[in-house]
Amino acid sequence: MNGVYLPESPAQLWEVLSLHPQGVLYAGGTDLLVRIGKGLLRPTVLVCLERIPELRGVEDHGDRIFLGGCSTHSSLLKENLIRDRFPILAEGIRSIGSPHIRNMGTLGGNIVTASPAGDTLPPLYVLDAEIQLLGRASSRIVPIRDFILGPGRTDLREGEILGGVWLKKERPWQVSFFEKVGRRKALSISVVSLAALLRVSDDGSIQEARLAWGSVGPTIVSSPEVERFLVGRSLGEATWREAGILAAKAVSPIDDVRATASYRRRVSGNLLLRLSDPKWKGAPGEPLKGFETDREGRCG
Ligand SMILES: Cc1cc2nc3c(=O)[nH]c(=O)nc-3n(C[C@H](O)[C@H](O)[C@H](O)COP(=O)(O)OP(=O)(O)OC[C@H]3O[C@@H](n4cnc5c(N)ncnc54)[C@H](O)[C@@H]3O)c2cc1C
Repeated sequence: MNGVYLPESPAQLWEVLSLHPQGVLYAGGTDLLVRIGKGLLRPTVLVCLERIPELRGVEDHGDRIFLGGCSTHSSLLKENLIRDRFPILAEGIRSIGSPHIRNMGTLGGNIVTASPAGDTLPPLYVLDAEIQLLGRASSRIVPIRDFILGPGRTDLREGEILGGVWLKKERPWQVSFFEKVGRRKALSISVVSLAALLRVSDDGSIQEARLAWGSVGPTIVSSPEVERFLVGRSLGEATWREAGILAAKAVSPIDDVRATASYRRRVSGNLLLRLSDPKWKGAPGEPLKGFETDREGRCG
């Protein structure tokens, strides 16, 4: 290793990167340092982004908000704007690792790692998040669905950093749901997760649905087919049973050390059944409290 650079401003960062274009970026280091520790990566220069204030914090821009790419998960959870307007993202963040990991790990790091098990990703997909990418003399915005290309692969170009995330302030969703089925207790990596946003009319029929599953494909999986199926239907259990059958077909999980593909397929459908619980009705945006999901994603 030739050095670790800790720039404190964008100007210093671009200077370091022009001198060391091969420099490997990191923020909290909770993913990168593990990969280095395992010998999967041997960088000669590391460039830390976490001391650059412009890359941290949440800004209200009227009809949308900007989340700095190096904001830690814990700092985002302290923001009323996130908890009140984007509870689904707050739920995803809460499910990450342990308090220690949430204090160190950042939103940008979770996105660039591009793991199908990344807990902020399903919420960011259903929120139609846009990624702000910055280079020394460039700036572009890319929808998250286009930014993430595969496991560990993104559209981040040489010389660019992830500057932040844009979220639109949409009309409130009546149902905002995130659930992660993992191995029990702290530090569980998701075996399957589901983020769901629903708009429901006064007569109880679904007007719009956005769904995204984690850990059941090479990237986050959405299913326009299931979303279309739900429109015009009631929130009753029969709807979710049928939707669950469609969802189990839509996902493309693999076997790994944490779960088999068939188990993941079953849980992907079962998680939808959680949305038939009456607790969701009339509780716009409130996280579901007080009951547990079993290993197959069924509510108890
Ligand atoms: C014990 C443990 C438990 C964990 N549990 C979970 C969990 O439950 N859920 C979950 O989703 N994740 C989990 N993680 C993974 C990790 O903590 C998160 O993905 C975290 O958000 C990564 O953020 P970071 O800032 O530490 O990333 P880093 O390790 O700093 O960086 C990760 C990658 O992103 C790149 N990068 C970081 N920031 C930027 C940027 N602004 N611009 C461009 N590239 C950038 C780096 O080059 C690197 O390739 C866990 C990790 C550990 C060690």
